[in-house]
Amino acid sequence: MLQYKKYDMPQTIEELFRLLERNDGAVDIVSGGTDCFAREKDSSRHPDAAIDVSRIEAFSRIERKGDVLVIGANTRIQQFLNDQELIECVPMLRHAAIYFADQQIRESATIGGNLANASPTGDMIPPLLALDAVVHTLRQEAGKIGGRDIPVSDFIQGVGKTPLARGEVIASVSCPVLEGYGCAFKKVGLRRSLCISTVNSAFLVKVDSSGRYFEEVRIAFGGIAPTPARLKAVEEKLKGARISKAQIQEMADYIPNDIVRSRSRQEYRKTVVRNFLTAGLLESLAEIGILPE
Ligand SMILES: Cc1cc2nc3c(=O)[nH]c(=O)nc-3n(C[C@H](O)[C@H](O)[C@H](O)COP(=O)(O)OP(=O)(O)OC[C@H]3O[C@@H](n4cnc5c(N)ncnc54)[C@H](O)[C@@H]3O)c2cc1C
Repeated sequence: MLQYKKYDMPQTIEELFRLLERNDGAVDIVSGGTDCFAREKDSSRHPDAAIDVSRIEAFSRIERKGDVLVIGANTRIQQFLNDQELIECVPMLRHAAIYFADQQIRESATIGGNLANASPTGDMIPPLLALDAVVHTLRQEAGKIGGRDIPVSDFIQGVGKTPLARGEVIASVSCPVLEGYGCAFKKVGLRRSLCISTVNSAFLVKVDSSGRYFEEVRIAFGGIAPTPARLKAVEEKLKGARISKAQIQEMADYIPNDIVRSRSRQEYRKTVVRNFLTAGLLESLAEIGILPE
């Protein structure tokens, strides 16, 4: 387990940036620590010092601004199961949280840590992609604290790779509050309990006022390529299509042939994508009371 020689816990953004400046940005940022502390102790890749941002109240706020919910980076995964505002405004994230680790890990693990860790199978990432969420970061330049807004689709750039610069931190992530969508989250892994995903996926479905046609469909998959991605070809094909079991089954033909770019277990992953696609669409429809024939 990784241990640090120096460990600071600032309470304000100003204090955080003073500490980052003092350490020339050469520190690990820690929030819940569930990824950081699990790293190898003697790894030469890690600095001796860490700054724990979990006490910064501004990074823990959850705030509705019109039809957008701004979720602080320190928001713990368990909160997506307990907090009424999160449950009502972003039910998609509750679906993913249900499958996330166990309660002990969920009480520490944060949404900011999941994003910054940039795992191809991070469970909160496909839902955030489906939601078209935006990551808000902060950094200090020439003595001034400023921010960037980065769409989640541009944020995860490879395995463990994000556009975060040295000394730049995630402050929050904002998600649109979508009305009338059904949603689902599907995940499979190698173990029954505390399962890290092999493949995960998120589905958001809206139907027209007659309840017979798809109005909008959003589908995101993780674990099949270095970065999680939307299935745009299927989304476009379903827009305006008549809702039926046959139509949903047919969508497997619109999954691009090269969809699985992970090197291992390619055929298995392709089968999972096909099965999740059907099941995810049917579950999302069922959530809004549509049971196709
Ligand atoms: C037993 C176990 C089970 C797990 N199960 C799952 C699972 O089911 N699904 C899943 O997706 N993950 C799982 N994980 C991985 C981990 O819990 C998640 O990635 C979690 O969301 C990380 O959040 P954290 O706050 O603990 O991150 P930390 O460990 O604190 O940090 C993780 C990374 O994010 C960076 N970071 C953290 N906060 C910020 C910030 N505000 N700004 C910039 N960088 C930041 C850190 O520097 C570090 O690189 C599991 C881990 C363990 C140990």
